[in-house]
Amino acid sequence: MLPDATETVSALGQICGARHVFSEAAELAPFLSEPRRRFHRSALAAVAPGSVAEVQAIAAWANEKGVALVPQGGNTGLVGGQVPFTGGEVIVSLRRLKTIRVLDADAGTLIAEAGVTLHDAQSAADAAGQLLPLSLASEGSAQIGGVLSTNAGGVQVLAYGTARALCLGVKAVLADGRLYRGLSTLRKDNTGYDLKDLLVGAEGTLGIITAAALRLFPRPEARETAIVNVASPAGALTLFRLMRDRAGATLTAFELMPRLGVEIQLRHGMIGRDPTPSPSPWHALIEVSRPQGGRQGVLLEALEVALGAGMVSDAVVAPSEAARREFWALREQMSECQSREGASIKHDVSVPLAAVPRLIEEGTAAAARAVPGIRPVPFGHMGDGNIHFNFSQPVGADGEAFMAGAEVVHDAVHAVVARLGGSISAEHGIGQLKTGLLR
Ligand SMILES: Cc1cc2nc3c(=O)[nH]c(=O)nc-3n(C[C@H](O)[C@H](O)[C@H](O)COP(=O)(O)OP(=O)(O)OC[C@H]3O[C@@H](n4cnc5c(N)ncnc54)[C@H](O)[C@@H]3O)c2cc1C
Repeated sequence: MLPDATETVSALGQICGARHVFSEAAELAPFLSEPRRRFHRSALAAVAPGSVAEVQAIAAWANEKGVALVPQGGNTGLVGGQVPFTGGEVIVSLRRLKTIRVLDADAGTLIAEAGVTLHDAQSAADAAGQLLPLSLASEGSAQIGGVLSTNAGGVQVLAYGTARALCLGVKAVLADGRLYRGLSTLRKDNTGYDLKDLLVGAEGTLGIITAAALRLFPRPEARETAIVNVASPAGALTLFRLMRDRAGATLTAFELMPRLGVEIQLRHGMIGRDPTPSPSPWHALIEVSRPQGGRQGVLLEALEVALGAGMVSDAVVAPSEAARREFWALREQMSECQSREGASIKHDVSVPLAAVPRLIEEGTAAAARAVPGIRPVPFGHMGDGNIHFNFSQPVGADGEAFMAGAEVVHDAVHAVVARLGGSISAEHGIGQLKTGLLR
């Protein structure tokens, strides 16, 4: 028989100490609510182990008793993988495993425990003159174990790859409490199957990551950042090709943003002014990271060519770090701003790069057929073929009624994605939200 809450709390308390076990409603609440507030189930308890041995003991106990465990990192996941599925689980928070153990600047490697926040890992790398290039708007809370378990992407995948590409090794506790000792910093190791690549992106289904070895890169000397006006997603794609040809591996970001997202932010005071002097139906945010001793002005030169060829109608290069941050704030607020205008239906999809314009065109048309007046706000990592294909409710519509029809919009968009050979989850994972879609 499955243990009840009292027995569970007692067993976990013996492993971790009673003060690291949470079962009262108020102390459990933060572990149960997730950023999009779609999944609301209770749990037998939450527990925050303080060592790998404690994680192992929890897993061994749960395995023996038949209790399901849900690993939780920073609880920023957007598909509900980090909160209970049935209400009968124990949440295992990794937040106490937060030591950066080794940073080797010469080798360009960092070993961190799973509960280290991405921001803290980035800061440690920076202090050593290195770059940990994984970068997400949630990096202040998201943890190393979480970003690896979701194989997170973010804004620099174009140049450095997803979390998987940055991971050299992991240590993980398996479901029965055994330890997978794969915390290698080797760049080359062809001794058979690479099990870390199964654990990365597994969303906690194959084990609990307790530590990881990550790749670091030389820190760029400077970043050149611009927001440009383009007529269409197809125009953005042409510009992307030009940028990639001219900047090569130093092109670290190429993000697409629609006019509506800018207008919403202006309307609600989230930005003070239009990003460029003249309004445009689409913008691209482009960033080139100049290596130490690298040539200056690569971005500006490429934009001059683009302006001359009519690919771009206007462009502003950030004159300062403060301006650069403003550009990025505009991009990072694209999702959040939609909540200021009522309900929104979201998709995190990817297609082959050349198909991005068709995705946006055909997806917009399909959604408009399903819900007349629906307002598309597709934005995101154009350079990776990953669009956050979001839709705001029609002006004046009833938000609840709009959301009641979300499935129809999902089906319409995902049908286009499937037709174009894409993925229904580019970077957020499957979690609870997309289990049906996965099939
Ligand atoms: C504002 C915002 C912006 C975001 N931007 C991006 C983005 O640009 N790109 C992107 O890819 N994602 C983005 N995300 C979602 C992204 O998945 C998470 O931010 C991050 O990768 C999850 O890390 P976390 O520590 O919060 O994990 P959690 O949310 O706690 O967990 C996520 C999943 O990983 C599992 N898990 C967590 N820790 C472990 C562990 N130690 N071992 C095994 N399994 C574990 C959980 O069970 C769950 O299935 C964003 C989220 C927010 C809220």
